[in-house]
Amino acid sequence: MNCVVCRKPAIPRSPCCPRCRPLIVGHAESRKRRIALRAAYGARLDVFRCWWSGAMLVLDDPTDPFHLCFDRFSPQTDSPLAASSRLFRSLRAGLDSIDFPNASRELAAHHRGRPFDREAVTFEWWTERMPPPRAGPLPRPAGRGRGCGADTSKRERRANAMFSYCITIYKSMSI
Ligand SMILES: [Zn+2]
Repeated sequence: MNCVVCRKPAIPRSPCCPRCRPLIVGHAESRKRRIALRAAYGARLDVFRCWWSGAMLVLDDPTDPFHLCFDRFSPQTDSPLAASSRLFRSLRAGLDSIDFPNASRELAAHHRGRPFDREAVTFEWWTERMPPPRAGPLPRPAGRGRGCGADTSKRERRANAMFSYCITIYKSMSI
């Protein structure tokens, strides 16, 4: 038998291989999880990719921002699931429909070497608490115009926290 997700050899009397089984078996909505994982699986590199960002997902470190998790396409309980990363599930939950694509675009741009444009995202609804950096101090975002002093606005503080979070993530990525 081959795994119903990745076609690797399955565990005897199980529909899944040792990697995919704990992601599906014993969970609520296991059928939706199986469908989401199939859609996220890339056979060429034998990896799962985040539905929203395309980034390769991590399976063995729950603290990693790109750890695999499941996300709903819409808030309804009967919504299909997407295989997502912790980071993008947070972004979707904390940003509105205008900020989310802008933040995604700026994250991608930052990863390619361009500065994250904090003015592109309003962070109106962003409440995510930022994890501590994994290693080393974060680079100080260069002060640009307003918000450089101690009396920063709520929006600016959120933007700075989001920016630091992004920097932490990309510092921790090896690709
Ligand atoms: Zn598998």
